[in-house]
Amino acid sequence: MTYTTMWAYPWDLLDDGVDDVVRRMRDDIGLDAVSIATSYHSVEHLRPHTKGARMFSTVDGGIYFQPDASLWRGVSLQPNVAPLAADRDPLAEICAAADRADLKVESWTVCLHNSLMGRRYPTACERNAFGDLYVPHLCPSNAHVREYVTTLCRDLATNYGLFAVELESLSFGGYGHFHGHAKVGVDIGSLGRFLMSLCFCESCREMGAEAGVDVPALADGVRAQLIEMFAHGGASVPGRPILVADALAEDSSLAALVDARRAVVTSLTREVRDAVGDTFLVSMQIGDSTVGGWDGAEIAEVADAIELLCYTAQPARVEAMVSAASGQFCAADDLIVGLSAYTPHTPSPKVLTRNVRQALRMGVRGFSFYNYGIMPERNLAWVRDAVAIIRAAE
Ligand SMILES: [Zn+2]
Repeated sequence: MTYTTMWAYPWDLLDDGVDDVVRRMRDDIGLDAVSIATSYHSVEHLRPHTKGARMFSTVDGGIYFQPDASLWRGVSLQPNVAPLAADRDPLAEICAAADRADLKVESWTVCLHNSLMGRRYPTACERNAFGDLYVPHLCPSNAHVREYVTTLCRDLATNYGLFAVELESLSFGGYGHFHGHAKVGVDIGSLGRFLMSLCFCESCREMGAEAGVDVPALADGVRAQLIEMFAHGGASVPGRPILVADALAEDSSLAALVDARRAVVTSLTREVRDAVGDTFLVSMQIGDSTVGGWDGAEIAEVADAIELLCYTAQPARVEAMVSAASGQFCAADDLIVGLSAYTPHTPSPKVLTRNVRQALRMGVRGFSFYNYGIMPERNLAWVRDAVAIIRAAE
């Protein structure tokens, strides 16, 4: 199935005129769908073309629709309704206009990366081996978090006639992508970041114990390795592995925890699958799969499509990513390739069309372009030309 969509923020559509934007996307650019941020994290967004304010800033993550009270009754983690949706339902307005314009709507759903939810519900957050909270990351092992995210997706799929639900950050959050200004003076390397990313919250401790892991001993070992790195001032500690793969090969309980984390993310994706019913389900892969707990082959069995963010100026990089994913996870036509349509990854329209052609050659038929309100206005024509190439390949 050929599938073209563009990510967009609800505030951009509301300010520019919902009907005007969806008609432009359908008639001028030729897109099949628009991917609207329905649940989103904090943002500082410079808006090069808008009828509204030049900056859109919010320190709080939130949802951009009116939650269905009947679905949310009794759910421990209640969503934060963004101020933009306080007295209107942006998603409902956008869906109605898109329907009039014959444009499909996809929910671009940021699932577990939300600092406001973390501040409100600290016991639902990830917690590292030292016991420190990672406030921007809700933990996918936590039963209340799982109920929250499945309710979120059920609400979206039930009430808005969406074409698709796209899942972003339905995984462990990792170490390094936080909320504040990072201050880090030690390069702990990929292994150090991986160890810092391991969650030892109460739910993860239970999950690890059920998988046969001696969790207190493992946490002690993780702390000891990190303390050595901190003392040594870097990742390379004599007698210790440097690579994550070597650490996993050496330590069977660490490997067992990683497997259990993958099972947690897969089973949560399955719960979301059940919640959204027949709605097309897209699972976005970002970052290292060992850190995220992301098992592409398993998730490809559950979701309808796997999405790769190929934000690069190099067609060879697109080739490598698509080739790896289509070799390990699913057929190329079950992949969606996300492409940035602006600098630095895409400094010219030629870069965009080259990347599109590369993905098409490899059998990819799903494309998502980033992002309506972030790119300069002239770049919308770059996307239009890229979409024309995709159409011509049908
Ligand atoms: Zn956890």
